[in-house]
Amino acid sequence: MEFKGFNTRAIHVGQKPDKTTGAVVPPIYLTSTYDQNQVDELKYFYSRGENPTRFSLEETIASLDNAKYALAFSSGQAAGLAAMSFLKPGDRILSVDDVYGGTYNLFKSQREEKNVEFEFIDMTKPDNLHEAIKSDVRLIWIETPTNPLLKIIDIEAVCKIARSRNIKVLVDNTFLTSYLQNPLELGADFVLYSTTKYFSGHLDVIGGALVFNDDETYEKLKFYQTTAGAVPSPFDSWILSRGLKTLGLRMDKHVENALSIADFLEKSPKVEKVIYPGLKSHPQYELAKKQMRKPGGIISFYYKGDIAAFMKNLELFSCAVSLGGVNSLIECPALMTHRPIPREERLRQGISDSLIRLSVGIEDIDDLIKDLENHL
Ligand code: PLP
Repeated sequence: MEFKGFNTRAIHVGQKPDKTTGAVVPPIYLTSTYDQNQVDELKYFYSRGENPTRFSLEETIASLDNAKYALAFSSGQAAGLAAMSFLKPGDRILSVDDVYGGTYNLFKSQREEKNVEFEFIDMTKPDNLHEAIKSDVRLIWIETPTNPLLKIIDIEAVCKIARSRNIKVLVDNTFLTSYLQNPLELGADFVLYSTTKYFSGHLDVIGGALVFNDDETYEKLKFYQTTAGAVPSPFDSWILSRGLKTLGLRMDKHVENALSIADFLEKSPKVEKVIYPGLKSHPQYELAKKQMRKPGGIISFYYKGDIAAFMKNLELFSCAVSLGGVNSLIECPALMTHRPIPREERLRQGISDSLIRLSVGIEDIDDLIKDLENHL
């Protein structure tokens, strides 16, 4: 039987009960190597290349994007580097202009080590790509919603332009997850996840994944994954598989809470402007509604008061980088996640020192709003 529902797939695909004991939850295969004389059919040799717990995780992740392949990595950054392994000296990446600071560092490292150039484009107007695409462009890198300004990029429109010029498109879908957006179905070639975030959901593991459909890409990336060796451990893979089982439930609650908080912040005199794709005031509200199943759990806003005191005094929102966990988090991108981006570039984009990003958790909404109300 084919499992259609997202939650059914998250719980059952790649997670069949153990054949030898009947254990409903598959065991963690904590082994680095395999005795070749114990099995009739050789499938596993060495855990850098093959591990049943990681394979289970990869099967689930692929299924959640209705994709043929997923490869798991030891972090989102390792997954990003793997995607860039296709690039050759002289190639160029076109990227959304407010990209995650760590991705910016990856681009810089590619420039320094491999002579791969990168360029930031305002992709909220996909037509900007026509002028930006020159013969050296090999990869278009999208985050949508972008981080931290939550701009929405029309994935389908970008992919159409890219396809006509034979350029690959990667969508970093960390903010929405496969529950709320499926970029491959909109024409993307790769989807990247920092599985550290919503996939794990509990702020207790670092991981990454690449999801795609192309067979040749699989051969190359599988070879890269095994050779570079930046794979998640069996224990991390297992923890991630457990997290995935409640992804749909958690995302629904993140969104429900975020909608209430965005509404509350929009009414506060201490807040200059709220950015959240679920608010009618968001400039791309209609596109968000069309492209995303729901508006996600991240809110950004410009605060009028003393940011340091506000972030310090809150009791439920931990002042911490990262996002996508059951606990609510607060951060100031200019001082924290986006510090690697030069200040002038940040300011040009609108990432000022008064911008705050919330990762809304799944605590009770009345408590979250009370905490904000007490300290704004
Ligand atoms: N992509 C996005 C959108 C992120 O927010 C992050 C990390 O914060 C990454 C990629 C990198 O992932 P990781 O920290 O798992 O290496």
